[in-house]
Amino acid sequence: MSTVTGLDHDREAILAEVRAFVDTEVAPNAGDFDQSERLPRTLLDRVGELGLWAPFLPVEQGGAGLDMVTLGRIHEEVGRGCSGLRSMLTVHGMVSWAVGRWGSDEQRDRWLPELISGGTFGVFCLSEPDSGSDASAAGTLAVADGSDWVINGHKKWITGGQVADVLLVFARTGPGMSAFLVPRTADGVEITPIPNMLGTRSSMIAEIVLRDVRVGAEARLGPPGWAAGTVMTGALDLGRYSVACGSVGIIQACLDACVAYTTRRTVHDGRLRDLQLIRRKVSDMVTSARAARLLCEHAGRLKDAGDPATIMATWVAKYHASTAATAAASDAVQIHGANGCSADYPVARLYRDAKIMEIIEGSTELQQTTIAEEAYREVA
Ligand SMILES: Cc1cc2nc3c(=O)[nH]c(=O)nc-3n(C[C@H](O)[C@H](O)[C@H](O)COP(=O)(O)OP(=O)(O)OC[C@H]3O[C@@H](n4cnc5c(N)ncnc54)[C@H](O)[C@@H]3O)c2cc1C
Repeated sequence: MSTVTGLDHDREAILAEVRAFVDTEVAPNAGDFDQSERLPRTLLDRVGELGLWAPFLPVEQGGAGLDMVTLGRIHEEVGRGCSGLRSMLTVHGMVSWAVGRWGSDEQRDRWLPELISGGTFGVFCLSEPDSGSDASAAGTLAVADGSDWVINGHKKWITGGQVADVLLVFARTGPGMSAFLVPRTADGVEITPIPNMLGTRSSMIAEIVLRDVRVGAEARLGPPGWAAGTVMTGALDLGRYSVACGSVGIIQACLDACVAYTTRRTVHDGRLRDLQLIRRKVSDMVTSARAARLLCEHAGRLKDAGDPATIMATWVAKYHASTAATAAASDAVQIHGANGCSADYPVARLYRDAKIMEIIEGSTELQQTTIAEEAYREVA
């Protein structure tokens, strides 16, 4: 099996390989991952073997230079199988991207090889108990002490936090906010699992308390006060793109499940698939999947072209894909009846996972209040 390495990309070959991985090693076990609230280490290692942790990094940084459209399709495929695993790809990718884009040579040398292989798992620590959508309300503080920084704060809902090796921590440094690469092993880092989440339950979410955590000057990513506008915005854009693509995967998984189920299941001496009201729901899923996939592809093409319009295109893609995923998953449960409410079929998990997509990386409400900017931009 080839892996995502080297420049010679054949998108269809890569996708076929990822699809096979998802169909054999991810999707059939996603229910167990969900129940056990864990992803096995062996699975995470397989992701590394396939070269999927940060394939978008440029070749000169040790990455595969993979284009964003292909990356999006990979995240769709993984999201089709397991949103918990796709979430892990998302946050690890955000950290890797931030180090690749904003790291010094020293920081890149130290972190990128291990981030690319997956030997080191990176997590994105922005949210706190009292600040989510409004990141400017974050209370985590980093205070200079000689050339060191001393960080105190409380981060919450950190995807992959339970298995984190390096934390990208956003903290106030005076009026602005900075980003720090904090090793999990630093004194004062305390990680506590958060069990029983509604969805993406296998993504090993944790809260992380930082108590007088001392890091050297080399831990800071970019100049002080620089993080909010650059590191954070860029990383969140990549995360939002990944979630949008993962949401397409959820819609596709709902569609696949419903097509199989309604073909088998009979009511009133006929198959479910022959009922018009069922067909309407299936038609909506087909249409949603295609529309969401095209919006993601559009955002990905703009990223590949380096066009700043990708930021808004990604908002639009994420808004459409995540809300369509919630609608598709709701219909999928409905179509499955009582079976859809059980753990015997994947649609209950898809329903729970889809709801999470509307909350993370910019909630539905933030998108509803922001996207209108697109319409007003040209009008004074
Ligand atoms: C499964 C999961 C994984 C996560 N992983 C991470 C992670 O890895 N790293 C990380 O840093 N964070 C993570 N988060 C946190 C996530 O980023 C936040 O939940 C998200 O930003 C929303 O913040 P909040 O939950 O504090 O909601 P709030 O900001 O308190 O919002 C509550 C409600 O008010 C609405 N609202 C907020 N502002 C406005 C507004 N201006 N206009 C209208 N409505 C508004 C919101 O849409 C929402 O419906 C994760 C969350 C979940 C559920």
